[in-house]
Amino acid sequence: MGSEHPHADIHWREDGQPLSRAFDDVYFSRESGLEETRFVFLKQNHLAERWATLKAGDTFNIGETGFGTGLNFLAAWQLWLQAAPTDAYLHFISVEKYPLRRPDLSRALSLWPELGPLAEELEQAYPPLLAAGVHRLRFGPVSLTLVIGEASEGFAALRLGDDALDRRVDAWFLDGFAPAKNPAMWSEALFHNIAALSRREATFATFTCAGLVKRGLKDAGFALEKVPGFGRKREMLRGRLAAPEASAVTATPWHLPRHPVSAPRGSTIAVIGAGIAGATAARALAECGYQVNVFERGSAPGSGGSGNEQGILYAKLSHRPGPNGDFNLHALLFAQRYYPKLCPECFHTSGLLQLAQGEKEQELQAQLQQWLATRDASELARPVDAAQASELAGIALPYAGIFFPRAGWLEPANVCAALLRHPNIQLHCQTAIEQLSQQQQGWQLSTSGAEQYSADAVVICCAHQTPGFPQTEELPLRPIRGQVSIARATERSAGLRVALCGDGYVAPPSHGQQSFGATFKLKETGADIREVEHKENLETLAQVMPEAAQDFAVQSLSGRAAVRAATPDYLPMAGPVPDWDSLNSTYSFLRRNRKALIPERCHYPPGLFSLAGLGSRGFTYAPLAAEVLASWISGQPMPVSEELVRALHPARFAIRDLGKNRQR
Ligand code: SAM
Repeated sequence: MGSEHPHADIHWREDGQPLSRAFDDVYFSRESGLEETRFVFLKQNHLAERWATLKAGDTFNIGETGFGTGLNFLAAWQLWLQAAPTDAYLHFISVEKYPLRRPDLSRALSLWPELGPLAEELEQAYPPLLAAGVHRLRFGPVSLTLVIGEASEGFAALRLGDDALDRRVDAWFLDGFAPAKNPAMWSEALFHNIAALSRREATFATFTCAGLVKRGLKDAGFALEKVPGFGRKREMLRGRLAAPEASAVTATPWHLPRHPVSAPRGSTIAVIGAGIAGATAARALAECGYQVNVFERGSAPGSGGSGNEQGILYAKLSHRPGPNGDFNLHALLFAQRYYPKLCPECFHTSGLLQLAQGEKEQELQAQLQQWLATRDASELARPVDAAQASELAGIALPYAGIFFPRAGWLEPANVCAALLRHPNIQLHCQTAIEQLSQQQQGWQLSTSGAEQYSADAVVICCAHQTPGFPQTEELPLRPIRGQVSIARATERSAGLRVALCGDGYVAPPSHGQQSFGATFKLKETGADIREVEHKENLETLAQVMPEAAQDFAVQSLSGRAAVRAATPDYLPMAGPVPDWDSLNSTYSFLRRNRKALIPERCHYPPGLFSLAGLGSRGFTYAPLAAEVLASWISGQPMPVSEELVRALHPARFAIRDLGKNRQR
């Protein structure tokens, strides 16, 4: 999960303005920060004029160094609402090495009552743990990608290595403390990364005229202009990218299609499957302005693995840096914002207790606790002893654990149905797509009943059945049967107020019933209810909450069994599906040297994507994975780092197999 990041150390001056103790510099002008922002960043980038010429479906991207209090973001968002068409999209990317704590952010933003409603939305969405890495915050058509880390590294982490995908920023706000007080940020590498993310003719504005900034911008290909500054400041800089540098290939670009695979906004997308993968994918695409047709074999959304009575929002955090821990953390943070906003009626923020059950889990939790303690993370997760755990849970528990106050449980099938209620989504139930064929333009989908549908792009979200099409048969998805048991809540068990998660899980009562489970049967696909698996679930529950498990043991249990799908590395797949022959021949040399730099790209059929392999953490993983998928399709900046884009890529297994010289 990257290295530790200290928060901003703020000194509040008598006039109520924030000052950075570390840099001994102000966050904004002492006279009027908002007016300065409008003059320096909005006006000198000509935003009002440029936004007035946008058309429906257009996107405008802004990049910023130093998110600070979020004042610049909010001022840009406010102007956007006044000047841009309602059906265009604003994307704001900002890096911040020393993020403000939420109370400091709120206090600073209270200086600007006219930004009040927008500031409130930002404060609500502001992550409870500002861990290093990429955080995506969505406000309808306005998105904020907040990268926590050193400015230059933060921008580098967003570069996929493809000019068409990377060069998207239309205007830059070069903020940050003054170069004299903070020379380290204004580095050559920063300007180089800024140029690499800029569209041709991208503009910039900055309050400073320091020689270091002028030289850096010029060397990176920007043309500069000195203009009068704000208030008492004599001059400032603005300009545009005049001579973009060519980007060099530094890693084998197996993740990048040879030709663009994205689809213009407004085109039609077919999503196959209406479980949580299909529902989140369809919703993310609908919100990007696509017309989405969702095809579901069953009679309603959530007919497969996403159809249990109760599901829990659970992630496996790790103190170790790496894609698994990173994705779990960022997916949980994203999901905790997502469900309360998009389907509050089916998400219950009861809190979740992850119990330290067993020696191995105790060891892991001890390390995780240390990690959390250095990160001011109590809003996300905090350690509790057995007495505190019992108090929070409302029933006696024999374990200490970690409490996630913003997690909880949800109603899976209702969540899927709620996400699919959107004017741009049309749901077709009892419609099994049997065949996919690529046309000169787009795709044709055929049902078992010989009905035909066409679409510009297709997203396959069929869990373990995803490899059922010739185009996807190489995707390594393994079925995992899971049976959940359902008991009538008893006097003792009904006291449970939180979702409990140890070796198994149990949810608080809902309509007088409680779900617990689930079994994990690798490579099994049966959906029959088995007595022996009820017994297994009861045995697991007896470890988690011994007394209530006794009560359940004497009842007759009901249950539900379904099949989930997992990938070999247990991370989901979200992205374009390659042409397997092209991939195998382009990268065949990896069989001899898995570290070889092969600068060529392989062919990806345009408009073929998949979101699958969510395993048993589907409700946690799906919202962020769907955002990655929608970014591939729309060509928008990614909501995760380039490292995670690769770690979630459907082609990663084929590339790993080539590297091991393994036949598929
Ligand atoms: N744009 C901000 C706003 O609207 O409130 C004000 C920015 S403030 C003048 C400068 C910001 O740059 C601070 O939040 C500071 O923590 C951040 N910063 C300083 N050095 C940095 C670095 N090397 N990488 C990323 N951010 C940095």
